[in-house]
Amino acid sequence: MIKLSKRQDEILEIVKHNGPITGKQIAEKLSLSRAALRPDLAILTMSGNIDARPRVGYFYNEKFKVKRQAESILHQKVNNYKAHPIVVGKSASVYDAIVQLFLEDVGTLYAVDSDGYLAGVISRKDLLRASLGNQNLSELPVSVIMTRMPNIITINPEESLLEAARKMIQNHIDSLPVVREADKHENTYLLVGRITKTTITRAYLEMMDEKSD
Ligand code: ADP
Repeated sequence: MIKLSKRQDEILEIVKHNGPITGKQIAEKLSLSRAALRPDLAILTMSGNIDARPRVGYFYNEKFKVKRQAESILHQKVNNYKAHPIVVGKSASVYDAIVQLFLEDVGTLYAVDSDGYLAGVISRKDLLRASLGNQNLSELPVSVIMTRMPNIITINPEESLLEAARKMIQNHIDSLPVVREADKHENTYLLVGRITKTTITRAYLEMMDEKSD
């Protein structure tokens, strides 16, 4: 989406609050000639920000506003929205992982190895599956049931929420560990946060609350 100039922003505000409004009236408000306004009005109309109706004037495109807001949300960085990762050691038992899941009220746990590097992902269904027909969950380490490296889909703090949303939808998963690469060659990652589908929903809510006027 193109970035608007200061004047285009001004015109957009005028149309938003006064629309439908004619080109002549907009020009008067800005103390400009209609000819001087024409290129900006053309850009605003072509980009979809405003619509023009003959003999009615210019008016604000509400649908475009929603698209703009959605875009500004999804271009936010993961780093600004990430939550704390809830972590267990990879030798922790499935029983302890289930307790942890309830205590922390999360849907997914991340397992780390003895050096603190990301080793696995443990979801609700992983735990349910392990519980079926397994008598001794305190003896079963999570490392046996978790999704392991290098099969973990991760995201960097500098990536966008849009990228996070895409990864979760494409891979049918509820959360992504936010990581920084520790050592490129060994495929090791330090865990710095988590992004979940809830994170994306919350970002939308916050932005809509801020922007509603
Ligand atoms: P649930 O299993 O509770 O529905 P998910 O849909 O997130 O939760 O998990 C589905 C499967 O994908 C599980 O086996 C889980 O271990 C795995 N998984 C979850 N998150 C990731 C991830 N970021 N990368 C790779 N695998 C994952």
